[in-house]
Amino acid sequence: MSIVTSTLGFPRIGPRRELKTALESHWAGKSGARALLDDAAGLRAAAWARQLGTGVTHIPSNDFSLYDHVLDTSVMLGVIPSLYEWCGGPVSPEIYFAMARGTRGRAGGDLPALEMTKWFDTNYHYMVPEFARGQAFALASTKAIDEFLEAKALGIHTRPVLLGPVTYLLLGKSKDEGPDPLSLLPGLLPVYAEVLKCLAGAGAEWVQIDEPCLVLDLADAQRDALAHAYKVLAAAAPDLKLLLTTYFGGLGDNLDTALGLPVAGLHLDLVRAPAQLDDVLSRAPAGLVLSLGVVDGRNVWRANLPAILDRIEPVAARLGTDRLMVGPSCSLLHVPIDLDLETALDPDLRSWLAFAVQKVGEIAILGRAIDRGRNAVADELEASAAAAMTRQASSKIHDRKVKARLDAVTPDMTRRQKPFPARRPLQRDRLALPAFPTTTIGSFPQTEEVRKARAAHAKGTLGDSDYRAFLRKETETAVRWQEDVGIDVLVHGEFERNDMVQYFGEQLSGYAFTRHGWVQSYGSRYVRPPIIFGDVSRPRPMTVEWSAYAQSLTAKPMKGMLTGPVTMLQWSFVRDDQPRERTCRQIALALRDEVIDIEKAGIPIVQIDEPAIREGLPLRRADWRAYLDWAVACFRLTACGVADATQIHTHMCYSEFNDIIDSIGAMDADVISIETARSKMELLEAFATYRYPNDIGPGVYDIHTPRCPSIDEMTALLAKAAERLAPDQIWVNPDCGLKTRKWEEVRPALVNMVEAARRMRLASR
Ligand code: GLN
Ligand code: ZN
Repeated sequence: MSIVTSTLGFPRIGPRRELKTALESHWAGKSGARALLDDAAGLRAAAWARQLGTGVTHIPSNDFSLYDHVLDTSVMLGVIPSLYEWCGGPVSPEIYFAMARGTRGRAGGDLPALEMTKWFDTNYHYMVPEFARGQAFALASTKAIDEFLEAKALGIHTRPVLLGPVTYLLLGKSKDEGPDPLSLLPGLLPVYAEVLKCLAGAGAEWVQIDEPCLVLDLADAQRDALAHAYKVLAAAAPDLKLLLTTYFGGLGDNLDTALGLPVAGLHLDLVRAPAQLDDVLSRAPAGLVLSLGVVDGRNVWRANLPAILDRIEPVAARLGTDRLMVGPSCSLLHVPIDLDLETALDPDLRSWLAFAVQKVGEIAILGRAIDRGRNAVADELEASAAAAMTRQASSKIHDRKVKARLDAVTPDMTRRQKPFPARRPLQRDRLALPAFPTTTIGSFPQTEEVRKARAAHAKGTLGDSDYRAFLRKETETAVRWQEDVGIDVLVHGEFERNDMVQYFGEQLSGYAFTRHGWVQSYGSRYVRPPIIFGDVSRPRPMTVEWSAYAQSLTAKPMKGMLTGPVTMLQWSFVRDDQPRERTCRQIALALRDEVIDIEKAGIPIVQIDEPAIREGLPLRRADWRAYLDWAVACFRLTACGVADATQIHTHMCYSEFNDIIDSIGAMDADVISIETARSKMELLEAFATYRYPNDIGPGVYDIHTPRCPSIDEMTALLAKAAERLAPDQIWVNPDCGLKTRKWEEVRPALVNMVEAARRMRLASR
């Protein structure tokens, strides 16, 4: 029997972002639901045909989604909050998109979207299931079955994918003291059972059921829930083979739980957790099929196929090919679709990469090598090994100077000269700021005009000097305006920046950018992460010119702005030939040079943004410490090259820092600005037990909505902050950068913010 090769999920968006085009046209009212659904069917058919064409045997269905697969699961189960006014029956596209995006301008009032949050440790965001008191479940969408039949009609036998019941519940939330999600399991299982029965009836042989919660720290009750759930599901459709699918980590202490479930197969992520294979092999019950996730579904590097075969051939010999499957570590949702479109990439770099299409090809080659022997695919294996060899030896990757510099880093480079209490008076003397100083986070509105000028410059229709003149004019306008309304610490406005990571990555060595390498971030929003392929260094200053120009316009202190090393790492595809920590340190050294150059240009304040520091946290608590230690060290390496009289700021979004607040403190930024307005200063709870030592600007203006906060509102937030923080510790600023807002929205809001700060000063006299 030949070995099963598989894909666990394929990108949905289409090689040319066709799904985005179709969705936006539908949302704009330019095309009806029928046209959208037809386009979606076309994308599915194309994805199936592509995978089939490579020779992979198990091809997924129901991995497609118009918006998000967790939302699809909620809709399948009838978990639709009452405000969306669903009255049973099939869920209409209107209701589906209302849950996904909210509604604007609807008769009877706007509806909010469901909450959205990160899918495990990826940059994909899912719509959080919302459970109500007395939550009932009913089959409300047959999408999983329909798409299986749709493929079948095309002559393609697929393996349907379902999000497993326990992971689904654990991803959800109850509002208003609703039920503990796990307690809903008994009500949920009959719907799953019904879906499985229908799939069996439709002719499915295997069903992939994703339970990535198995790689998390689980409580006993959660493990018991898994045992109960799979007992019920296995009994519901005894002829169906369930492939219990885990990814993003190892099973660890959940291994026995997983191996005890009555399923036909178990998928393991052997890229993130290669060592678990031995344990699984020695403990797996006889007859359990093992699916080995050996091709990296989270990164863009080409696999070294002979090296993978060295590991899996012995397993095949031991278990027999009928007990083995080979696939990617996880769904290919998280990588771009097709490398062949990247004709402008450096050819060497290109030869080291594999996107979704290429990865499916790699999996098929592995299957053929196992079935027919390595000789049957000798050329492919040789090409793969050769690419790995040239990559390892390439001078494009290795820069001896960078390595030497990294090895020469000393502990004092990650410490300011004096501790904060001694730096503070030096900075206060230099800056002469009032109490409750006001500032913004860096960017001002990226108007249509700014974006047009940037596009024209990129196309070559606007010359360098004209573009620069335009940016200078924008910067000057922003500086004058800040002076006029009385902001204390000014920014230049970041008009020259396309994106906070791209702008820096494009100026650093070791970074590459794709043209079409889009990856879904959420719904119709896709990002094109840069690729860090080599040793990182900074050939020349990146931002100094703009900050210095802005400072030359005003006597008020200017704040220089840059993206921090952890965020530069976190929002990129990172090389896999050295630890992430080492790559992060290289970035930190490059940015350290920038910080020092900003200081040399006479800028008294430098802000190092780290919005991604929290999302880098490992999935298992036991791994947090190590990560936080190097992340904090990298920040400090970036920041600590300056004199004590130079003030270092950092900025973070989302206030969920309560459990890592000590690490935030350990970053030792003189000032931290942090998003808190949306959550009404929830962050302050952390300060009940932890006294944040340095200065802090809890955001008072929620920049995510067009709404203008009133003076009273912002004063109230500041007063609340002053209960938990020393008044002379508090800065006054918005939640985040203002680039997505309009000037008409920003102007009155900042005028109010300055007034709120003034009231606080008067009140605390
Ligand atoms: N300085 C950046 C800005 O103002 C920070 C963005 C962010 O935190 N996401 O736009
Ligand atoms: Zn932010």
